[in-house]
Amino acid sequence: MEKANEVRVECSGDLASLVRRPGGGIVRYTLKRRASVKDVLEALGVPHTEVYGLRVDGETVGFGHVLEPGQSVRAEPAAPPVDVTVSTPLRPRALPGLRFLVDENVAKLAPLLRALGFDAVHDRRSGDARIACLSADEGRVVLSRDRALLKRSAITWGRLIRAAMPLEQLAEVLDLFGARKAPAPFSRCLRCNAELAAVAKRDVLHRLEPKTRLYYDEFRICPVCRRIYWRGSHQEHMRGSLLRAGVILGD
Ligand SMILES: [Zn+2]
Repeated sequence: MEKANEVRVECSGDLASLVRRPGGGIVRYTLKRRASVKDVLEALGVPHTEVYGLRVDGETVGFGHVLEPGQSVRAEPAAPPVDVTVSTPLRPRALPGLRFLVDENVAKLAPLLRALGFDAVHDRRSGDARIACLSADEGRVVLSRDRALLKRSAITWGRLIRAAMPLEQLAEVLDLFGARKAPAPFSRCLRCNAELAAVAKRDVLHRLEPKTRLYYDEFRICPVCRRIYWRGSHQEHMRGSLLRAGVILGD
């Protein structure tokens, strides 16, 4: 029997797997205080960053909609590909482009995204408050396995990473945003995210191993850490891994 202060919450698609209650997709939730849809979904374990459609009693609502007893909530997951440059009722602030902020718990995503040419910031010293603030200020998609972080209201674009292995995590992100084709492969420093600059071989000759001097003629350098990049065995190894993960690298 339905209790007077209950709401019905239906989480469709893969949101059901995030619900930390028996019953998964459809649960009854007891309102103990004034609560928004966002509050209730997040109390059930579903961060608002994972929700792309929201209806209460059939009407489209925003995350801040305050629930009344007896109401019925339906939350829908992303329908990939998600285009961050288009504003939606739940995310009125579109982003100028696809840029990332990588949390420490998925740190290996940062160099992988950079290898494809994505702007992917990662600072292991950043706490949750700093990450939330940066994502809002710089318009970045937060990638994390931490539900508490993604519940922060300042974060409007994010992804609760489901996969455990880095290359699978990469595929998960690329599929969500329809970005299997790398925008600019090997154009960024894997360590510091800066865009690489072309450098003449003669200017870096003194820093090259004899075999590298012999076999390679094109070099790029990071303007921040001065690391030198070329299409050597490291890059070939990474190309192989990325191709196996389904990334389209171009040349
Ligand atoms: Zn660098």
